Amino acid sequence: MVKLTEGRGKELFRKYGVPVPKGAIARSPEEAERVLRSGAVPCPCVVKAQVLAGGRGKGGAVRFASTPEEGKAAAAAILGSTFQEETVREVLLEEKVAIARELYVSIALDRTARLPVLMTSARGGVEVESVPDEEIERQPVEPFPGLAAYERRRASRSLGLAGALVGELDRLLSSLYQLFDHEDAELVEINPLAVVGERLVALDAKVIIEDDASFRHPEYATLRDDRTPLEELAREKEIAFVQLDGNIGVIANGAGLTMATLDVLKEFGGAPGVFLDLGGTDDPKKVTEAFLLMAQARPRAVFLNIFGGVTRCDTVANGLVAALGTVPPADRFPLVARIRGNHEEEGLAILRAAGITSVPDLRASVQAVVAAAKEW
Ligand code: GDP
Ligand code: MN
Repeated sequence: MVKLTEGRGKELFRKYGVPVPKGAIARSPEEAERVLRSGAVPCPCVVKAQVLAGGRGKGGAVRFASTPEEGKAAAAAILGSTFQEETVREVLLEEKVAIARELYVSIALDRTARLPVLMTSARGGVEVESVPDEEIERQPVEPFPGLAAYERRRASRSLGLAGALVGELDRLLSSLYQLFDHEDAELVEINPLAVVGERLVALDAKVIIEDDASFRHPEYATLRDDRTPLEELAREKEIAFVQLDGNIGVIANGAGLTMATLDVLKEFGGAPGVFLDLGGTDDPKKVTEAFLLMAQARPRAVFLNIFGGVTRCDTVANGLVAALGTVPPADRFPLVARIRGNHEEEGLAILRAAGITSVPDLRASVQAVVAAAKEW
């Protein structure tokens, strides 16, 4: 998932014609002061921490300044501080606008409806989660014709707009939908969308780009910072691999079995630290690669839970044994295996020959791996 900072989101807004206040990014208090003195961003202004978390307003990460000196001080207070575990490295400086009303507008991919959904609410400026359902207008959008004129008008009505603001919103929504469509976003959100006299101005921007479309957008590749280096490596090898906080590694096949395995481990007091979904792979080379990745994550113990359906137990066992041979001694870990299903007997024989026993009972196997992680 590529989540853009507000500043980057607003660059897209500008490109597509969604109105935003005059603004600039600064990376030091001195730079902030310079920008404000030059008038590139006029005072009074707003100084906003560029972090991905929301709730900055309430958290002191959005400040107001009436002079360049005050702007510098605000930037100094925010830059380098930590907001929701993120270090602030940039601030967005923006001209302060006089807000008459704060509205909410978003377009999100609704995976249940399998359509983009336009959401509008007259109750903007607060977390949308706290707005009662009946005060949010939801309109599914047919992606082929795109956002229709009547849908834009209905949105206008739901926001209680009149006069010139109706046309303003109409244009804004067309632009916003284009952005959503062309950039392959899964979410574009403006909260608040401010009514400023006869104009609408997007005061905040939240843009998330759909992961499955990343191949169409190499320009976002450098922005993804939500993956650990190992996860990045796994992605290149096309292995589904996710790092968590615990210390037990899980290798399973299929998303369902993998998730269920994590749940059962937790149920028995274990803490899953990394999981890896072999999916339907039947390729010993891939299994080997998966194991080496797992070893690099340095789990205290590993639980291999495989159900052989399409995947054959003996293939997985072969890959596993081959991989264990190449794991450097320093990276080895206790392993509890549970291999069941297609070609189970052959798989078990291969494991036995390599000194690995498979525990067929789920409860017993989970208890064994939780104990192994504790003893290590
Ligand atoms: P968030 O709290 O992380 O969602 O950050 P926002 O960008 O939404 O800013 C929080 C609040 O600051 C907004 O809801 C506005 O009330 C206020 N704010 C932001 N920019 C301006 C501005 O230019 N003028 C005024 N008066 N208020 C602003
Ligand atoms: Mn906001």
